[in-house]
Amino acid sequence: MMDLNNLYDVHCHSPKAGVKSIVNYYEGFSTMQGAPYISAGIHPWYPDKTSLQELESTLSKKELIAIGECGLDKVCSTDWELQLDLFKSQIVLADRYGKPLIIHCVRAWSELIASLKGVRVPVVIHGFNKRVELGRSLLEEGYYISIGLAALKPGMEELIKAIPVEKMFCETDDRAESVVEVYKAIAAIKEIDLNSFALQVQKNVLKVFEIE
Ligand SMILES: [Zn+2]
Repeated sequence: MMDLNNLYDVHCHSPKAGVKSIVNYYEGFSTMQGAPYISAGIHPWYPDKTSLQELESTLSKKELIAIGECGLDKVCSTDWELQLDLFKSQIVLADRYGKPLIIHCVRAWSELIASLKGVRVPVVIHGFNKRVELGRSLLEEGYYISIGLAALKPGMEELIKAIPVEKMFCETDDRAESVVEVYKAIAAIKEIDLNSFALQVQKNVLKVFEIE
């Protein structure tokens, strides 16, 4: 039996009680503390070239289990070349340190896929809620897809059904609700047992993030 009070939340901005959270940091890399599992990366909204070195100096920490969220965002005001540059540098770091990537992407999917060509570490697309065709092409690239509280909204059924459970994660991002709501919604849509779904996501976490 999976302990449903101890589910994995692979992307959030503050840890929640009774949940195994991967807490994300986009700044202050040298002072990160307090969470058993951390992801750290330079977000396209908060670009700072000088933090690349600070980020690299933390990558040997055991609790730092992923780089991200990082990625590309065509809707934000950050200079595009700077975004590309920072993203590519973080892909290099991810491969060098063997850390999976947690990806933020807004309207830059083909550029994202092009940048990630040849990457050796696992890639997790966080907070995905776009159309099923795009979801399928991300799966074809071998990426994992993390679903957040959008799972509770109408219109997500086709996408959620199309993602194999072996390629799925659950997250709460910046929301206050419990990740258990995401697990419940997905299990209901996929018409699978909640406990076995949670066990499969746990397996995915152990495999991709190499934690227990
Ligand atoms: Zn986030």
